[in-house]
Amino acid sequence: MADALPAQARVVVIGGGIVGCSVAYHLTKLGWRDVLLLERRDISCGTTWHAAGLVGQLRATQNLTKLAKYGADLYERLEAETGQATGFRRPGSVSLARNAERMEELKRLASMARCFGVDVDVITPAEAGKRWPLIRTDDLVGALWLPRDGRTNPIDTTRALAKGAQLAGARLFENTKVTAIHRRNGVVSGVSTDRGDIACEIVVNCAGMWARELGRMAGVAIPLHASEHFYIVTDPMPGVTPDLPVLRDTDGYIYVREEVGGLLMGGFEPSAKPWGMEGIPEDFAFSLLPEDWDHFSVMMEQAIIRIPSIATAPVRRHVNGPESFTPDGRYYLGEAPECRNYYVAAGFNSIGIASGAGAGKALSEWIVGGEPPMDLWDIDIRRIAPFQTNPRYLRDRTEEMVGVLYAIHWPFWQPRTARGMRKSVLHDRLAARGGCFGVVMGWERANWFARPGMEPVYRYSYGRQNWFPCAADEHRAVREAVGVFDQSSFAKFRLEGPDAVAVLQELCANEVDVPVGRIVYTQMLNPKGGIEADLTVTRLADDACMVVTAAAAATHNAEWIRRHLGDARAVLTDVTSAYAVISVMGPRSRSLLSRLTDADLTNGGFPFATSREIWLATAPVRATRITYVGELGWELYVEAAFAPAVYDAIVAAGDDFGLKHAGYHAMDSLRMEKAYRSWGHDLGIEDTPLEAGLDFCVRFDKKAPFIGRDALLAQRDRPLRRRLVVFLLDDPEPLLYHDEPIWRDGVLVGRTTSGAYGHTLGRAIALGFVEHPDGVGDAFIASGRWELEVAGERLPVRAQLTPPYDPKSARVRA
Ligand SMILES: Cc1cc2nc3c(=O)[nH]c(=O)nc-3n(C[C@H](O)[C@H](O)[C@H](O)COP(=O)(O)OP(=O)(O)OC[C@H]3O[C@@H](n4cnc5c(N)ncnc54)[C@H](O)[C@@H]3O)c2cc1C
Repeated sequence: MADALPAQARVVVIGGGIVGCSVAYHLTKLGWRDVLLLERRDISCGTTWHAAGLVGQLRATQNLTKLAKYGADLYERLEAETGQATGFRRPGSVSLARNAERMEELKRLASMARCFGVDVDVITPAEAGKRWPLIRTDDLVGALWLPRDGRTNPIDTTRALAKGAQLAGARLFENTKVTAIHRRNGVVSGVSTDRGDIACEIVVNCAGMWARELGRMAGVAIPLHASEHFYIVTDPMPGVTPDLPVLRDTDGYIYVREEVGGLLMGGFEPSAKPWGMEGIPEDFAFSLLPEDWDHFSVMMEQAIIRIPSIATAPVRRHVNGPESFTPDGRYYLGEAPECRNYYVAAGFNSIGIASGAGAGKALSEWIVGGEPPMDLWDIDIRRIAPFQTNPRYLRDRTEEMVGVLYAIHWPFWQPRTARGMRKSVLHDRLAARGGCFGVVMGWERANWFARPGMEPVYRYSYGRQNWFPCAADEHRAVREAVGVFDQSSFAKFRLEGPDAVAVLQELCANEVDVPVGRIVYTQMLNPKGGIEADLTVTRLADDACMVVTAAAAATHNAEWIRRHLGDARAVLTDVTSAYAVISVMGPRSRSLLSRLTDADLTNGGFPFATSREIWLATAPVRATRITYVGELGWELYVEAAFAPAVYDAIVAAGDDFGLKHAGYHAMDSLRMEKAYRSWGHDLGIEDTPLEAGLDFCVRFDKKAPFIGRDALLAQRDRPLRRRLVVFLLDDPEPLLYHDEPIWRDGVLVGRTTSGAYGHTLGRAIALGFVEHPDGVGDAFIASGRWELEVAGERLPVRAQLTPPYDPKSARVRA
């Protein structure tokens, strides 16, 4: 180890766990040498040293799977490169299903895995028994076999990464604790340590469960919380050999692997033990927490069911170590929205060994390139809301999230804990109408409304869930009469000042220098033409616009706008909580609202894509004629204090028009029939508007050039090799969600990005990107035999580019 702490460095990486070492390693691989890695005690002394070392490859998204696969490959070759053994091997893994629902999940995962290029086989219980002779199989439905899954020694692997980084020029300082992080004008300027100060350009927070605290030092929100996590190691057992695959019996909450001739068995129990909110002891290094056999018994009982011989095996070691968990079970990567050059890689939810290599690679490329190297939205730190650092919220949610790792990942699943954080002013009224709420960015949102006599509670399954007929009623009301949605969770920003419109002109691909009272649907692009934001801009005045975007994109979109403000005379203000949004949608919306206002709502008096203030009932309301459901309708932006009265007036008048309350599940069904895209699902930073079929939103001819224009111009004149396509199932029964493989003439050509049941069309619909090296033209789409793979079965579909419902939007403009 080097001994004199330098006074400055280009990059300071905080934390010498597997993640920090991986970041340092990969930065040097990209040619950055002036990298300092600071560790308060010893390399790997935090959570890393006691990890079980499983290296699974299949992750929730394609890019995360790519990173996990990269990790296994790197660990495999790291010893040859650095001379430090890692202990990595590939014994494969077997995941068991005890019931039909789990089997459905495994089959869907297998379909997805193939799509992502991961080797996988669906196998029978007997085949699982052959691979793992000690398990009981008579109660199993089936299993998955992933031959390329691996395991590694976490300490040695971390050392190998550290050594690789050092060999390439990085300097590592152990026993060096960062005590402060400094910023100047919103940019990182240095750190203080217990051994002196270091000026630096970039800080990377890889401090594991300490990361929240290190975030606070620079005003950065990093919502994570530690939880106790347990495993045992038995004495050697007959029949246990080093080539035994890793075993996951998630219905029994457990994982198992061989360890020195015995078994290492750990798990993710349904109700976990959050730890460390009062602070992590100063001397916590290579430390464990007290054994808790009572708590562990939940997993032990299940292990005995699966591996009867473990019941009598002497336990050599009981490990209880803390690991950090996040409110949505996904780790954080990227530049913090609150502070430039402050990067984060933390909150690994028990997959930090498997993910450390890929996360370090991706983050290093992000740091060096100044932008995410690929679409990493699922783990992007900009997906959070700052309130989520609330200690009580984190503690409550962590108790649940540990078990969620191994629970069935039901479609539409909602957390049970840490609820009720953010509510619309209409919340209680919607609850009284039978609203069943889901949560996005802490907002409680009515997803569906229970019919009279029905409990507003989810009953999860892979098939039609209990709310299916309720959402169907809501959908039909919007198509045939009128529905009311509470869309108050919309993120709303005012951009004001003499340069407000000029800033937006540079950011938006569409023309936003429009007359006051116009609303424009537009994308904001990065220089490569990828979609950073998908939103609307309403011109409020010469020098003021309102920007409205999805709740989930609030932090990301605000950060994107702020980072481009520069010296412009414009101020961005988040007014989300100031306004409720009541959307009145459907062919009878005009008649209903006309009862409550003297404003002229006719096509001539209030054309589509316009917005203005009107009196509605007793309140001033900004009425905006726009829709995400494909019908005539208005979004009503109402100051929160006035909103209950406006809502009551609409509901009171609504009976005469067949008004129904409608939720987000109905909205999803309605928007899919219109093929309206959703950012974060169908659109992301790797997709251009041309590929996504949003060319109608791109104004190449507008006076001011916009970011991404050159990239689009280059793409415009060539055949598009990727395109977002709409799919309609032939069979009206099955449901589609996302990530279903897309086949054309028996060749895998893409995967779906979102799916929903279209209640007007009477079948499931999906959107998905299709790729073909010679271009995805109209003829390519019109010809060919198209299929979507659902849980291993290929189902015939119709492929088209146009929306299946009202393709000319006559109803929207009615
Ligand atoms: C029992 C158990 C089993 C697990 N099994 C697996 C598994 O099989 N597979 C898998 O993928 N994952 C597993 N994990 C998870 C995995 O161990 C973690 O996700 C991973 O180690 C996290 O690495 P990290 O570098 O983020 O954090 P850490 O290893 O905790 O590293 C953070 C480092 O930051 C240092 N630090 C903190 N504050 C400061 C400061 N102010 N200044 C300087 N340094 C600081 C700490 O000392 C620490 O060394 C397991 C976890 C547990 C608890």
